[in-house]
Amino acid sequence: MKRIRIVGGTVIPVTAPGLWYENGHVTVENGRIVSAGPGEGEARPEDEVVDAKGKIVLPGFVNAHGHAAMTLLRGFADDLPLMEWLQNRIWPVENTLTGEEIFWGTQLAILEMISGGTTTFADMYFHMDRVAEAAAEAGIRAVLCRGIIGIGPDAGRQAIEESRAFVRRWHGAEGGRISAMLGPHAPYTCPPEVLRQVAEVSAELDVPVQIHLAETRAEVEEIRARYGRTPVLAVSESGLFERPTLAAHCVHVSDEDLDEMKRWDVRVSHNPGSNLKLGSGVAPLRRMLQKGLVVGLGTDGAASNNNLDMLEEIRLAATLHKGVELDPEAVSADEALALGTRGGASALFLEEGLGTLSPGAPADLVLLDENVPHLIPRYNPVSHVVYAAQSRDVTDVMCAGRWLLRNREPQTLDREKIVYQVRQIVSRFAS
Ligand SMILES: [Zn+2]
Repeated sequence: MKRIRIVGGTVIPVTAPGLWYENGHVTVENGRIVSAGPGEGEARPEDEVVDAKGKIVLPGFVNAHGHAAMTLLRGFADDLPLMEWLQNRIWPVENTLTGEEIFWGTQLAILEMISGGTTTFADMYFHMDRVAEAAAEAGIRAVLCRGIIGIGPDAGRQAIEESRAFVRRWHGAEGGRISAMLGPHAPYTCPPEVLRQVAEVSAELDVPVQIHLAETRAEVEEIRARYGRTPVLAVSESGLFERPTLAAHCVHVSDEDLDEMKRWDVRVSHNPGSNLKLGSGVAPLRRMLQKGLVVGLGTDGAASNNNLDMLEEIRLAATLHKGVELDPEAVSADEALALGTRGGASALFLEEGLGTLSPGAPADLVLLDENVPHLIPRYNPVSHVVYAAQSRDVTDVMCAGRWLLRNREPQTLDREKIVYQVRQIVSRFAS
C-alpha cells in the first residue's frame, strides 16, 4: 500500500488531554501510523499527500457495544420498558430474521457508522458469519460475538457450539481487523452454570467475554431474588470475571459492585443514549472513572437509541453526568473524547495504541470539516468535536490505512443497494 501523508489539518491525537497540533500531519504506511505530530512530517517523493486544510484529524470512533442488524427494527417499537420491549416486540421479530436479512441490516449499520466516523464496532447478535462477512466487505474493524441465551431445554449449548465455530473461523481474520468474543447475553438469561461453561470455552479459545450487566433496576431485583446478590456479584461468583470481561451498561451498580469490577479489571461499555431511551437510568460514569475502571462508549442497537451516532454518545457522556452530578467538571470534553476512541479500544481488549493517532497504532482515523457555521470560530478543537460537531461534518474515514469514506462517499459499500435491500426486507414487518 502507498504511503499516505495527511497534512495541513488540526490533528488531535487523543494521547493526552488538551493536546492538538495546528497544521499537523499524520503519515500512514502499511495500515499503520508512522508518525503524527506538528508540521508536514518527513516527506518522501512517493508519498500520496492528502490536504486536510480546514479539517480536524482525529482517531476513528470505537462503538463498544451494539447489535448492528437491529437497524432493521429502528423505530419499530419505542417508548416501552426494556423487558416489555424485548419480550413482546423485539424478540418475536428477531427470531424470524434470516442470515441474509441480518447481512443487509449489518451493512446498513456499518454504512451509518462509517458515515459518522466510527472505525471499530462491537456486535452481539446471531448469524454471525453473515455479520463478519458484512464487516469484512466494508473494511471496518469489528469485534463480534454470537449472543448466548442460556435458558430453555438446550441451555445455550447450541449457541456455545456456534460461538466456538465462529471464533475458530473469524478471530484474527482480515489481517486482524476482525476479532471475536464470547457473548453470554445477561445474568437473567444465562444462569451461573452457563456462565461457568462460557468462561471455560473463553479460556480454551483465548478470547474475551462480553455481557449485558446491571442494565435496569428490574434486573437487579430479579437477580437478587434468584441468587441473593447483585448482578455484578452474581456474575463474579460464577467465575466469569476470571476471564477478560466487557460489561455493557452497568447502570445500577453499587460501590461494592464497582470495587469488585475493578478487582477483576472488568471493562465497561457506557451506553447513555440507549439507557436514557429505555428509561433504564444513568450509569455512574464519574464513579467508574474515579475508581480507575476502563470505560468505552456504545450506541447499543438502533432499535433502542435510535441511531448509531458515536458523536452523540460522546456528547452525552460529557453533558449528562454534569447534569446528574450538578457539576460542570464531572466529565471533561477531553475525557469524553478519550472514552469514545481509545477507551472503547481498551474496553474491547484491542491492541495498545488503537483509538489514538500515535506511531505504530493502526491507521484508523477521521477527517471532520471545520468550515461549517456551527464550528466557527474555533478556540479549542476538542471542545468543538465534543460539544458542537455533528456526524455529518465527517468527510473522510480511514480504517487500517484504507479509505472507507472519501468526501462523504462510501468507498467500499454500495449505498443504493443497501437501502433497496433493507426496504425490501422490512416490508414484511409492517404487516
Ligand atoms: Zn445491548
